[in-house]
Amino acid sequence: MTEIERRGILFVFSSPSGAGKTTLTRRLVAEDDRVDLSVSATTRPPRPGEEEGVHYFFKDRAGFNTLIDAGGMLEYADVFGNLYGTPKAPVLSALARGQDVLFDIDWQGARSIGRALPEETVKIFILPPSAAELQARLQGRGQDSDAVIAARMAKAGAEASHWDEYDYIIVNRDLETAYKEVLSIVAAERLRRSRLPGMSGFVADLAAIR
Ligand code: 5GP
Repeated sequence: MTEIERRGILFVFSSPSGAGKTTLTRRLVAEDDRVDLSVSATTRPPRPGEEEGVHYFFKDRAGFNTLIDAGGMLEYADVFGNLYGTPKAPVLSALARGQDVLFDIDWQGARSIGRALPEETVKIFILPPSAAELQARLQGRGQDSDAVIAARMAKAGAEASHWDEYDYIIVNRDLETAYKEVLSIVAAERLRRSRLPGMSGFVADLAAIR
């Protein structure tokens, strides 16, 4: 079958922590080779287990600022005193190849990417089914003290208040259903006429069939 030329899409996922976003996004990247994960740059030091180029590109401030000055950042922000940003080159090269890019980023980053490339950006927000369920999930991880969980719950509430800046909302009651919903969004967005610049040639060939 003829491959129809298409433009890549930026799928931007945000959610309050504990809503299942990481599980859903990692699965999509693993199962769909047309989706690349965007790796951000940061000035914060690596945490144990974090790898250069996998979790982040770790930079010192001078290196980060050099990239900004050279126009190499699609967007960046200061988060708790460290700089975080999206390197521009890999994103633009993916779009040109018709490859999609997935971002796992908070509402501020999502907003900036949407402003930088509005035509290409699709914003998806994942919500937990309820506050009680979110608390139970955070406690069930067994990673955090009660104080940390209370702080995460407060932060989750603040993040959730930005739901109305997104194109799609998924309430993650059940992981399999939520994943199917993610796949439906990806499939529908890929079929948009505006994302298929190769369509006129394809249709011209069809029209030539006698
Ligand atoms: P962490 O240090 O826990 O990995 O991330 C801290 C915060 O930085 C998170 O809220 C995350 O969404 C945000 N962040 C990560 N990468 C980027 C980025 O490329 N741009 C922006 N604006 N924020 C980011």
